Amino acid sequence: MTLVTRVTTSGPEETAALGALFGKCLEPGDVVALIGDLGAGKTVFARGVARGLGCDPRDVQSPTFTLVREYQGRVRLYHLDLYRLDDPEEELLAIGYEEFFDSPTSVALVEWGERAGTLLPSAHFEVCIEKETLGSCDDSKRLLIFKAVGQTEERLTELRAALKSPEETPAKGGRAR
Ligand code: ADP
Ligand code: MG
Repeated sequence: MTLVTRVTTSGPEETAALGALFGKCLEPGDVVALIGDLGAGKTVFARGVARGLGCDPRDVQSPTFTLVREYQGRVRLYHLDLYRLDDPEEELLAIGYEEFFDSPTSVALVEWGERAGTLLPSAHFEVCIEKETLGSCDDSKRLLIFKAVGQTEERLTELRAALKSPEETPAKGGRAR
């Protein structure tokens, strides 16, 4: 697992915009696990990714009750949510997870992706979203940590360049109050 980059956002629009930048870099066959508590911003980020892939972000709803939704952009996007599954690996096996995780023509975005366990392909991305609540009563700050497994150095470099945003590099040490 390689750290790609860490970015802080201050509001849902910024998280979605970051998702769109990320989505623009995604290629058919990519699988992205979105990790974070309820309300962290996984669906907000997914909406941005959909936009970056050329899908209509207005179509993007949480697939909590449907398990998987599908959007068509420059590539097909499968959007999954494993939150409600009692036995995620078993149920993914039952619905034919290969269609989502092993497709050379589509991208898969998986909320609660860590619950897919060993079914996640050996090459994938992880985006962890954490609420930044420490020492702040502001509820709109999020830390997004992008990680990669089994990706080429070239792609990591490309992603780092794409995800660089002005918000990313606050002065070291001092947290603005
Ligand atoms: P999840 O899918 O992780 O359960 P959602 O994306 O559905 O979470 O919801 C995130 C909630 O947090 C939304 O109501 C959104 O408006 C709010 N929010 C506040 N600040 C941010 C931020 N910086 N990034 C993303 N969402 C934020
Ligand atoms: Mg969600």
